[in-house]
Amino acid sequence: MSNRRVSLKTKEIGQMYTGKAITTRQKNEIMPGQPPTFDFPEQGTSNRVSHQARIPRVVIIGAGFVGSTTAYALMMSGIAAEIVLIDRNPRRAEGQANDLRDAEVFSHTTRVIVGDFSDCCSADVTIITAGLSQSGQKSRTEGLRETGAILHGFVSDVCLQNPRGILLIASNPVDVLTYAAWKWSGLPAHRVIGSGTSLDTSRFRRRLAEHYGVASANVHAYVIGEHGDSQIPVLSSARVAGFSLDEFSKALGLAPAESPLARIVERTRKAGVDIIDAKGATYYGIGAALARIVRAMLRDEHAILTVSSRMPESMRLGDVSLSLPSIIDRGGVAGVLPVALNGPERAALEASAEVVKRGVADLSKAIPM
Ligand code: NAD
Repeated sequence: MSNRRVSLKTKEIGQMYTGKAITTRQKNEIMPGQPPTFDFPEQGTSNRVSHQARIPRVVIIGAGFVGSTTAYALMMSGIAAEIVLIDRNPRRAEGQANDLRDAEVFSHTTRVIVGDFSDCCSADVTIITAGLSQSGQKSRTEGLRETGAILHGFVSDVCLQNPRGILLIASNPVDVLTYAAWKWSGLPAHRVIGSGTSLDTSRFRRRLAEHYGVASANVHAYVIGEHGDSQIPVLSSARVAGFSLDEFSKALGLAPAESPLARIVERTRKAGVDIIDAKGATYYGIGAALARIVRAMLRDEHAILTVSSRMPESMRLGDVSLSLPSIIDRGGVAGVLPVALNGPERAALEASAEVVKRGVADLSKAIPM
């Protein structure tokens, strides 16, 4: 590392060596014949990737709306010491990095770096947000082959660089791509994770909380299955402060509420489409969700989040990646939990698994898995 040499005054040398002021004569005794100097790191060193240090490092591939918002959410939370942005458009990545660096003084010291795939080597988590913009004309499924080809282009390289890291995928269709990335990566399934229905679950909880007039933190409810139209917001096992929704309604003296709940389910499913219609893309919610998942990993929280991962046989859903409540720790998915479902909800979950399997079959015709 090259250093900037800075001359020090007598007073400063005295404080460094004796803890009090010294005379010029004493200074010359300490450092005879030459102006005293002190080594400082070169300006700009903070923009280099630190390959040796074990500091929490997150790489984000794709520095568009979702990637940059995720970086911002990570920076505001102070979880990562180092964030590396990779994009096929390096100018965009550099612009995002400079914009993010401007937030450092107001948030947490975070090294934001523009890098390349070799910088994935010591990442704790590599987040993949590269893909087609949501504002394009293509539907999730239409964009599948194109985004599949993008991920296929780098996933195996990233995992060769970093066989011990975790892949966290947000690119859509996220469940199909999580399954495909697992196949292409050679990593164990518990370390290839999709953001899944974590965002949908937050939308569902917030709407239920609004309906009952309580904080969303006191609502335990999950959206499971595909992050897409076939998702299942589960009402039967939703709880508010430990009560079922029926019990809570009775306790509050509310009338039985089937139609508002059906509306909440419908609005949860359509929330993403509504936002895209209004502003062209969604990114704040998913950025916060990805930062939350990373926090659970880096802090080994054993938090329960609805992320997408390859389903264990015990779920009887076949070979597919889907979201169910999952325990997230330092190693990725530590366990997938069953949810108590009624008959129609179970049937909807099985149908949702079939939707993802069809997506996987379609993609594997274009790109072998
Ligand atoms: P965007 O167009 O703003 O950003 C995508 C970025 O990926 C671009 O900067 C592009 O240059 C980059 N990119 C493309 N190919 C690349 C490659 N080979 N290597 C490196 N970078 C590459 O799009 P966005 O709005 O940020 O959305 C990104 C993805 O996230 C989309 O697939 C979108 O559907 C998905 N998304 C998922 C969720 C979710 O809940 N899972 C929510 C919102 C968006």
